[in-house]
Amino acid sequence: PYDVLVVGGGPAGASAAIYASRKGIRTGMVAERLGGQVLDTLSIENFISVKNTEGPKLAAALEEHVKDYDIDIMNLQRAKGLEKKDLFELELENGAVLKSKTVIISTGARWRTINVPGEAEFKNKGVAYCPHCDGPLFEGKDVAVIGGGNSGIEAAIDLAGIVNHVTVLEYNSDLKADEVLQKRLYSLPNVTVLTNAQTKEITGTDNVNGLTYVDRESGDEKHIELAGVFVQIGLVPNTDWLGDQLERNKIGEIVVDKNSATTIPGVFAAGDCTDSAYNQIIVSMGSGATAALAAFDHLIRN
Ligand code: FAD
Repeated sequence: PYDVLVVGGGPAGASAAIYASRKGIRTGMVAERLGGQVLDTLSIENFISVKNTEGPKLAAALEEHVKDYDIDIMNLQRAKGLEKKDLFELELENGAVLKSKTVIISTGARWRTINVPGEAEFKNKGVAYCPHCDGPLFEGKDVAVIGGGNSGIEAAIDLAGIVNHVTVLEYNSDLKADEVLQKRLYSLPNVTVLTNAQTKEITGTDNVNGLTYVDRESGDEKHIELAGVFVQIGLVPNTDWLGDQLERNKIGEIVVDKNSATTIPGVFAAGDCTDSAYNQIIVSMGSGATAALAAFDHLIRN
């Protein structure tokens, strides 16, 4: 059996596996796609100490670093269930069962997509999901934010300080974001809020050039010219495969304590699949390190 079995091969999983392996304990890593969301990212400018890099480049560096250690890497393998017997048993979709004394779950998350024409086509060509990451790429330009919840309004406030103008589109008749955020938003001179606005299509040629929406009150179809569209309708953590055996919050994120421990002793979780406050590469790597050190601590005490 493994001492530590890491499920997920993004920044959190890579960090956890390296930290575990450095303790000289038997470490395995199962990943559907080594690199995780980083593979889908264009430019990364906030991975501290690296001024600027590209997603695939950072993903390759992660892989190289992991492969420098004695870690059993099972790439392109999807976990489908976890059970506690004598040891933890992780079942893979290919039927294999892996046994381990401790498990670190780092299966990440995916942005909720709006599924309108143009979204997939212009991803990374004007369609963006992460304002911290991609906001500066739209400096001085006009952008839209789809979604009037907390993340949408936070994104709009953040972007308003960088871009020329922000249009917020909310499907419902009012914004769901906290009052204090709405107040801040409405105090900004370069923001327009459209409620009852149903996004129909993201338009463009090589890159995004605008967005078509239906005014649900009048039924009229309207088009706005834009350089970028930020889709902010939530994140979906990749945790469904775990069922209800450990505590998850109402959006499915695994609840962890400050040691990255879950509600099952011996099972730790790190990165975007947890209820951590912010989803960023550097944050995920930090929590991966915490999870591995806590797993080691658990092993020497049990
Ligand atoms: P992920 O990167 O999601 O990795 C999850 C891993 O788990 C993957 O290997 C996946 O294949 C695997 N997995 C999932 N389910 C299973 C399963 N059932 N069995 C086995 N393996 C599974 N952050 C920044 O700091 N700076 C940026 O500039 C930036 N830009 C971004 C741009 C985009 C387009 C996106 C999508 C995200 C961006 N982020 C950025 C956020 C950052 O990528 C994430 O916070 C980070 O990747 C989270 O790391 P993670 O390891 O927790 O999860």
